[in-house]
Amino acid sequence: MSEPTAPARAGDLGVSDRQDSGKGDRTIVMQRNQRRLKTILGRATDDRLGDGEDLRFLLSLADEEDREALFAAAREVRRRHFGSAVFLYGFVYFSTFCRNDCAFCHYRRSNVALPRYRKSPEEILQAAGTLAASGVHLIDLTMGEWPERPAARPGQPDSLAGLVRRVKARCGGLPVMVSPGVVPDSTLAALAAAGADWYACYQETHNPRRFARLRVGQSYAERMQKKSTAQALGMLIEEGILIGIGERPADVADSIAAMRALDADQVRVMTFVPQEGTPMAASALGPALGEAVVIAVLRLAFPDRLIPASLDVGGLAGLAERLDAGANVVTSLVVPGKGLAGVAHASLDIEEARRTPQAIGPVLARCGLGVADRQAYRHWIDRRRPRALPQAGAR
Ligand code: SF4
Repeated sequence: MSEPTAPARAGDLGVSDRQDSGKGDRTIVMQRNQRRLKTILGRATDDRLGDGEDLRFLLSLADEEDREALFAAAREVRRRHFGSAVFLYGFVYFSTFCRNDCAFCHYRRSNVALPRYRKSPEEILQAAGTLAASGVHLIDLTMGEWPERPAARPGQPDSLAGLVRRVKARCGGLPVMVSPGVVPDSTLAALAAAGADWYACYQETHNPRRFARLRVGQSYAERMQKKSTAQALGMLIEEGILIGIGERPADVADSIAAMRALDADQVRVMTFVPQEGTPMAASALGPALGEAVVIAVLRLAFPDRLIPASLDVGGLAGLAERLDAGANVVTSLVVPGKGLAGVAHASLDIEEARRTPQAIGPVLARCGLGVADRQAYRHWIDRRRPRALPQAGAR
């Protein structure tokens, strides 16, 4: 896998010094690249995008017109698989305590200046209930990685699995995603038995050396293994990458290949936002690749999977460009007035009620999209879960 270097530009597309020496030669190269783009996008719109060269080529596109062609292809693939329907995820970041020290994260253990919170079960249930009533398709229960208290045994109401049961009961059986980080296999089994539909666990990079610098002190292999274990238990998997950290197209292409090998059900990309109180606070590494370009390539690489447009990085103002790039899920909708935080930005647009289904409605309409009905989301989940074991929890 590749080491980080300077951001790639269209010059990566095969222009040699000799070819670049004359206008005629440059035109020939441009025409050749146009033909190549057309060929790759043709394959992609037939759901036959390759790994390696195809991915690197698309991720290297710098010309605006080329990028527009990429986005148009991504929208066409989304239309063919999902029509104009978009799914909405409600986000409940219920505990910001974390035992880890990820170099990029505001909530890392070493950031002692940070005010932290842990919401009570009743506060979590209220927030989830409000989100459910607002029309979301899923409740995303997210926490920093923190060991469960020994007393909180699987099955106990105050365990994580117990919380999943109660949220599902409060929300009429709405699907639930859990993002607890790396937890024991017994906890994963309890979560699956409680009816957790999704396990989200982001590697952020699939370059083990870069992983070691980002997720300091954590095991690359163990984190990957937890996703496979959750899959075997019948849960759907969300995998994700972070960009804007000096990556090259080849690095993102490697990640896409790894996520394909994992057979992830939902794949997300997020742009790094420098965070005060972290070793990367002053980092100005990117973005080398635009998030919209990566979303579009993800759409072509994963035609029938879910791809989020997160409100967490660019807020409401950044939603349209992510949807126009082929995303089909709006994530990180947060209930205002409950003291709940986001991840990349702790407070962006939350208390202004700009991360609600009502606020995003006009943006969806402008993009020619609309909110899917809940049955459609349930059908998608059920179709994607042939490996599912019978789950004991309320569904
Ligand atoms: S990214 Fe997650 S695991 Fe890492 S420090 Fe932040 S909350 Fe903890």
